[in-house]
Amino acid sequence: MAKVIIIEETTKNPITLMGQRAGVCWGANIEDPEKNYKRGLDCIISGHHRVMEYVNVEMILDGYSARVIREWYTHIGGAPTRLQASTRYIKYEDFKYVLPHTIEKAPEAKRIYEETMKTISEAAARLENECGIPREDAAMLLPLGMETRIVDKRNLRNLIEMSHQRMCTRAFWEYRELMRDLCAALKDYSEEWAYLVDNYFMPKCEVAGYCTEKKSCGRKPKKEN
Ligand SMILES: Cc1cc2nc3c(=O)[nH]c(=O)nc-3n(C[C@H](O)[C@H](O)[C@H](O)COP(=O)(O)OP(=O)(O)OC[C@H]3O[C@@H](n4cnc5c(N)ncnc54)[C@H](O)[C@@H]3O)c2cc1C
Repeated sequence: MAKVIIIEETTKNPITLMGQRAGVCWGANIEDPEKNYKRGLDCIISGHHRVMEYVNVEMILDGYSARVIREWYTHIGGAPTRLQASTRYIKYEDFKYVLPHTIEKAPEAKRIYEETMKTISEAAARLENECGIPREDAAMLLPLGMETRIVDKRNLRNLIEMSHQRMCTRAFWEYRELMRDLCAALKDYSEEWAYLVDNYFMPKCEVAGYCTEKKSCGRKPKKEN
């Protein structure tokens, strides 16, 4: 099963940290954690979101498809960084893959999907073992549905922006599930994270008060309505 693992370098008390960083510039008492917490909260409620860029998030995303990770990489605000499982050194003749719910529910579709994955896997192995093709070239056959693993590092502001796009009903279902896993993992990490997730991680219609998408899911009215 796919999972999000929050690594210990992730800021444990993000609101307190934000207040501490802001306090430096205001000549405030930054030794008092309670005052830092209150100042951090004031900053984000007032919309001074630059302070969110001091909050570090490091995590492992494991078992999601290469396709959804490709979408994850489009969120470039704040210059995040990552490492991704190699396609050169891992044994890909027995790669794992994501099975979409729609396909899982339809026996014939499931049969076609699984058979195709098996064919790809066997062909990659034959290219390598029977034809002497280097693994990096046989790996060209690998599908976007294959599972991958990344180690990702970004800041709070980037993740909040991401939630606006990717918790939208229009976003790819696997990304929405990834966001759900991410929110749960962050909420587990500390109380301050639980507050931030509950109050700031939301689809863009919640922020705007109306739907900004051309094809609306109807969750919120369109602006012109
Ligand atoms: C339903 C849906 C369909 C999509 N379809 C496609 C698709 O077909 N093809 C595709 O490529 N992508 C697609 N996307 C991805 C989308 O276009 C964005 O790439 C993705 O949402 C990340 O960009 P972002 O601006 O939201 O986030 P970030 O890149 O993290 O940026 C966050 C914010 O930071 C600021 N910012 C970031 N970079 C800059 C910059 N260089 N200069 C100034 N300000 C900056 C902006 O204010 C921005 O809103 C889709 C997304 C959705 C939700």
